[in-house]
Amino acid sequence: DTDLARTWVQAIAAAVEKHKDHLTQLDSAIGDADHGVNMHRGFSAITAALTDYKADTPGAVLVKTGTTLISSVGGASGPLYGGAFRAIGKALDTPATDPRQFAAALAAGLAGIQKLGAAAPGDKTMIDAYALALAAVRQQADAGADFAAAAVAAADAAEEGMRATTPMQARKGRASYLGARSMGHQDPGATSTALIFRALAEAVVA
Ligand code: ADP
Ligand code: MG
Ligand code: MG
Repeated sequence: DTDLARTWVQAIAAAVEKHKDHLTQLDSAIGDADHGVNMHRGFSAITAALTDYKADTPGAVLVKTGTTLISSVGGASGPLYGGAFRAIGKALDTPATDPRQFAAALAAGLAGIQKLGAAAPGDKTMIDAYALALAAVRQQADAGADFAAAAVAAADAAEEGMRATTPMQARKGRASYLGARSMGHQDPGATSTALIFRALAEAVVA
């Protein structure tokens, strides 16, 4: 519901704060060493933007989150995550959400990321974590699981997808400029996606 959406976004902000240096370290290996800084700037702006924001639905919180990310983050991750949160939010325009509805919303978010960034699974991006999380939520929804179980499955799957990026060669984003030298490094965006889904699993039980 709306409170869970707020708790989720706050939990992401806390995780980003905690792992900011790690995200930047990962991006220094295969990018331009700003992913932690970008995410931190974005989620600090969101925390401020949500403080006095009155929302009636989870979707309103998440659309606001996306809009703020787009306007506050200059790197690739700002518009990609911003567009995803906006799409997820637009799909959650009722006061309460079940796993099936959440899976559909996440699918809209993934479509948004792919429309903008044209990356496919295996390209060593945030998609590699996100797509597995979406598949896990779908599977849980089809099995009739509750939201908490779906969120934990999503977090576990996102972390698996994150780890799977290490041997991949990047085909999108700055890391792709390195060609084969991008192999052997975990993707920063897949790592922040795993943080985002772990934050949801934590928010559900909070
Ligand atoms: P920038 O690369 O502009 O500095 P960030 O460092 O904030 O932006 O984000 C980098 C992350 O964005 C990458 O690790 C990757 O996961 C993700 N990314 C980059 N390009 C794309 C794309 N075209 N599609 C999906 N994700 C992408
Ligand atoms: Mg970067
Ligand atoms: Mg950058």
